[in-house]
Amino acid sequence: MPQQPPKGAGSGTQSAPRRGKGVLNQQVAAGARVPVCASCKAQIRGKFVTALGQTWCPNHFSCAMPDCKRELHDIGFVEEKKQLYCEGCFETHLAPNCSRCSKRVKGDCLNAIGKQFHPECFSCTYCGSLFGNSHFYLEDGLPYCEADWNELFTTKCYACGYPIEAGDRWVEAMNNNYHSQCFNCSVCKKNLEGQSFLGKSGRPMCKSHAR
Ligand SMILES: [Zn+2]
Ligand SMILES: [Zn+2]
Ligand SMILES: [Zn+2]
Ligand SMILES: [Zn+2]
Ligand SMILES: [Zn+2]
Ligand SMILES: [Zn+2]
Repeated sequence: MPQQPPKGAGSGTQSAPRRGKGVLNQQVAAGARVPVCASCKAQIRGKFVTALGQTWCPNHFSCAMPDCKRELHDIGFVEEKKQLYCEGCFETHLAPNCSRCSKRVKGDCLNAIGKQFHPECFSCTYCGSLFGNSHFYLEDGLPYCEADWNELFTTKCYACGYPIEAGDRWVEAMNNNYHSQCFNCSVCKKNLEGQSFLGKSGRPMCKSHAR
């Protein structure tokens, strides 16, 4: 049977904004089709820019921020939701804020639990180790590594020391928790779930061995 992942387990995905540069062409090669600007849809006579498989008038290949409009063919662009921006506008207006340090995420961005992080900012709440591509576990919306999550948030069987997981049958006795199959007489190992037992030095005993 495949093991179910514990409550709140997840893993992050990493993404980075697409950056590139347009190429300024002096003129259409003889016999080639006249390029059409992806922005104004007009046929372009003279210089034109090619980028991302499209063509633009040089002055229309510009930052999509209305109050910027810088031409992008010599400075490069950042693509965000199919729009092109200059690096400055991307960093000040569009780069997501890291949920841990609140600074803008300009490069690689880790997407996890519906939030954005610098890859180096998404780490175990308890020990600070980075998750990379490995799984993390959530508790109250905070991520933990598997070892710490197990240590901090699982109930452990007093007899065998392993976590009691959701769906396991368990017994609470003498202020401790036991897997049902681990709740046995300390002497004869007879299972005591639902049986009468006596506690001796914090250990369960069947009636005949408690005397
Ligand atoms: Zn145009
Ligand atoms: Zn701009
Ligand atoms: Zn950060
Ligand atoms: Zn940890
Ligand atoms: Zn156990
Ligand atoms: Zn016994």
